[in-house]
Amino acid sequence: MAGGNSDIEFIKKGKRLDGRKPDELREVRIEAGVLNRADGSCYLEWGNNKVYAGVFGPIECHPRHKQQQDRAIVQARYTMAPFSVNDRKRPGYDRRSSEISYITSQALERVVMVELFPRAAIRVDMQVVEAHAGTRCAALTAASVALADAGIPMRDIIPSCAAGKVSDTVVLDLNKEEDNYGQADLPLAIVPSTGEVVLLQLDGHLTPDEFEQAFDLAYKGCMDLYDIQRAALANRYGGSA
Ligand code: ADP
Repeated sequence: MAGGNSDIEFIKKGKRLDGRKPDELREVRIEAGVLNRADGSCYLEWGNNKVYAGVFGPIECHPRHKQQQDRAIVQARYTMAPFSVNDRKRPGYDRRSSEISYITSQALERVVMVELFPRAAIRVDMQVVEAHAGTRCAALTAASVALADAGIPMRDIIPSCAAGKVSDTVVLDLNKEEDNYGQADLPLAIVPSTGEVVLLQLDGHLTPDEFEQAFDLAYKGCMDLYDIQRAALANRYGGSA
């Protein structure tokens, strides 16, 4: 939603309007195993974002025509609650939700060992209860932890984080105002053990140099989130992160 409003001075004396340094994440808190009815779950707070993720499966794949003979499919579904934004959001699924669900499914299929469960589906429901920009990254980060909590075999867990540009400066993890009126937003998700990029989007404009800077910053943000994800799982199951 980068609108590119150059009238707003987003950075004053090296600090952003919310007091963060350009390369600083909003505060992140992750808890695994928070829902009794799901096979695996996660609650994540990231700045003012609040997201639940619940996993069911592996279960029989419906509709049947989506079944794959040699592997499971990951059916991720991202939704925002009507009360998650300032003006009540119309309930239900819209184009944006379906885009985010699709890219999340694609990313998760890179790490879930889908070949172990032919014809099955693994359902991942992500519910944003408060949204303040960066919710696709927050939802994917929570979904990975919920999958691990469900005991689904995975090659790694996926952290996701965005970087962007405001007032001609590349910054980590845009908040709502920065996302709305800034110049660019670059959400990234990686597989930390291999460095594979499983999600990369760009809204707005960046020069090649700025792109490289934003990519490096988002990558570093992902690695910081990876530590927090592993600590959340270690906290629930014991062991070290
Ligand atoms: P992301 O949340 O991944 O940054 P967007 O860039 O599409 O995704 O959205 C940025 C922010 O805009 C969201 O986090 C949310 O706060 C707000 N937003 C998105 N969709 C709506 C909507 N339908 N109504 C009101 N606010 C919305």
